[in-house]
Amino acid sequence: MMLFFVVLPRQAIWRDDASLGLGNPGGLAQMLMSMGNSRLVIPPGETDPNSLTTPSPARIRHSRLVWVQDRSKLMQRYMKNDRLRKLRNIGIIAHIDAGKTTTTERILFHTGKTHRLGSVDDGTTVTDFLPQERERGITIQSAVITCEWADHQINLIDTPGHIDFTAEVQRSLRVLDGAVVLFDGVAGVEPQSETVWRQADRYGVPRIAFVNKMDRVGASLERTVSMIRDRLSAHPITVQMPIGREASFQGVIDLIEMKAIFFKDHGSPKIKEIPSDLLPAVRRRREQMIKALADVDDDIALAYVEGEELDSYALVEALRRATIASEAVPVLCGSALHSQGVYLLLDAIVRFLPSPLNIDPITAYAPEQDEHLLCVPKDDAPLVAQVFKISSDPYVGKLSFVRVYSGVLRRGMTVFNAATGQSQRVGRLVRMYADRREQVEEIRAGDLGGLLGYKSASTGQTISTQECPVVLERISFPEPVLDISIATNRPGGDKFEAALHQLSEEDPTLSVRHNEETGETILSGMGELHLEVVVDRLLREFGVDVSARAPRVAYRETISRKVCVEGRQVKQTGGHGQYAVVELELAPLARGAGFVFEDAIRGGVVPKEFIRAVESGIVEAMKEGPLAKAPLVDIKATLVDGKYHEIDSSDLAFRLAGASALREGVSRAGPVLLEPIMELEVVAPLDHTGDVIRDLSSRAAKVTRIELTETGVQVITAEVPLARMFAYATSLRSVTHGRGTFVMGFSHYAPVSEEALQEVLQPSHP
Ligand code: GDP
Repeated sequence: MMLFFVVLPRQAIWRDDASLGLGNPGGLAQMLMSMGNSRLVIPPGETDPNSLTTPSPARIRHSRLVWVQDRSKLMQRYMKNDRLRKLRNIGIIAHIDAGKTTTTERILFHTGKTHRLGSVDDGTTVTDFLPQERERGITIQSAVITCEWADHQINLIDTPGHIDFTAEVQRSLRVLDGAVVLFDGVAGVEPQSETVWRQADRYGVPRIAFVNKMDRVGASLERTVSMIRDRLSAHPITVQMPIGREASFQGVIDLIEMKAIFFKDHGSPKIKEIPSDLLPAVRRRREQMIKALADVDDDIALAYVEGEELDSYALVEALRRATIASEAVPVLCGSALHSQGVYLLLDAIVRFLPSPLNIDPITAYAPEQDEHLLCVPKDDAPLVAQVFKISSDPYVGKLSFVRVYSGVLRRGMTVFNAATGQSQRVGRLVRMYADRREQVEEIRAGDLGGLLGYKSASTGQTISTQECPVVLERISFPEPVLDISIATNRPGGDKFEAALHQLSEEDPTLSVRHNEETGETILSGMGELHLEVVVDRLLREFGVDVSARAPRVAYRETISRKVCVEGRQVKQTGGHGQYAVVELELAPLARGAGFVFEDAIRGGVVPKEFIRAVESGIVEAMKEGPLAKAPLVDIKATLVDGKYHEIDSSDLAFRLAGASALREGVSRAGPVLLEPIMELEVVAPLDHTGDVIRDLSSRAAKVTRIELTETGVQVITAEVPLARMFAYATSLRSVTHGRGTFVMGFSHYAPVSEEALQEVLQPSHP
């Protein structure tokens, strides 16, 4: 059967010959006229079970939780599920400024759910909820927005591009099934695109690429594609060829359907035959596309070697298989600002990106039992959902965004949080569209939505039922590395406390602690911008009048050798006394191991009921180390011996004894101050490399790689103490005359140098 792909202005129509009489007769008639006698469309995407990813063996034990026996059979059965087949949970990931907000906006506009084209430049976009986001033009919070295209439901999960907000990127990568990666056609693959690309690799997210800003001077699809190949070690397959360049960019050749698509007003496509002068180049590109596809798909390879003509159906199916298996990345291009190529991007989302049926089922664990459950997207399975984002809405209160992995989350049902042991009734459920939220009765398997007023969950927690209580693996977040001390200018009210509580609940990379001694409140976050945004939100959103001191590196302390130490709390002078003696062994642990407590008491020399008190005393004392009052980490404390008194021993006495043993022990165990070391990547023009490296050396950076890219810029990778990186943006700007950029992310904690230690220990140190 000959197949053609037709795009209409408002909606792509994918129908087979039999349904020609249905649908929109006016539109169809028009379209048929514009196409001569060609027959209509259908690269349907994914009805073929072969397009599933390779089934992984169902590693299931026999238990009451198990109801899946063979994933491949089960998946084939559910392939018939039209709702799921037509569902896409996708994110748009990109370097800041690549055009994510504009593209999202255009997608929402063209899918008909928003009726006003917003613009980032005048701050009227619909996905950005916070005023600061509008001002700064960055998207900090992920929001899930549902839209519809070509009879498919697309849940768009917005992800931020700034490195300080990688936690937001991580949690959205966890819940999405596929992604569109945007590149700026002029800048190509930028350092932050690399960072998010590698994160998407880690989470195994299938991707398509959209090379944006093709209207700009210097934009090049080919250069960007070779950067995707070289810098990201990916296998890009270009499925379009631009018609015209820069300001005269006016359309693309669809190399699959072999049609020319010209962009009319608001980007609406007009399909034409390929202009004859372009034919030789188009044939060459199509051949390249097929060859690249043959590299990853045996069917195509065979057909290619045998010189068989490949129709668009076979190509779409093969591209879809390769994309879902993360073996290839179809590449499209356009200009989001002028809505050019956005229709085709939407078609590509539907054609190439996976539905929940194509994704390996996630595993849930039954706490304290050696059982696990594969969560396939099946409505009549036990409920397993995950809260991946909490936000506070000024109108409706706490809004938890969830992904339902299996089962159905229904309004009014009682759900269970296996991590906290709390049950709760499900209140209102909502689905978010660009311009409104709609109340829904249920969120079914595979889908995403919002849950209002769900108190007992924090980000990353699992919602299940009491009958089948399970937890999904927690989303892991990087350590906060920067502290600021803030104080409210109007103490006494509980508004300040409530605001801080809400912010830290929403954002797992933000931690709040109080310094009893100085009365300060310390906020710890991922970077300068992150904390700046938090302080800004306190002022604007919560109306809390706060002042903040300059940020300070989040130091930690640890020990360097093993010691044995005794802690005593003995006061027996008349009346009810206090008596507790403990003997601890303290030992250093590997970096990142945290704190471990072991009870090695034999023969009940310290009764069971006091052991917990000893541990809590130690935990309390771990909050401040002897060097810089920084929290102690990576220590194992073993309670090896102790003494108690029938009458005078108490919880309090053992807590105090535990704390004093820890303090005494740490000071004798070679305390060490640890500081966060960041991984830094600087991109600068070649002629500024020397200056950049000199500046980095003065900041005690260890340069680990210097690489010259094809576009003639130098990429310098280094490890550097965060303490030396304040205001680096300004300094880099000055040494590179504004042409250098950098990204920085937490790498690890390491002991500070002797020189830095002296500096930190100065009383004047902030
Ligand atoms: P984000 O930071 O990735 O969300 O990027 P934005 O959508 O905020 O876009 C950054 C800037 O690039 C804005 O000034 C946009 O108007 C501009 N922009 C976005 N897409 C295009 C495009 O296709 N062509 C041109 N020339 N500019 C664009």
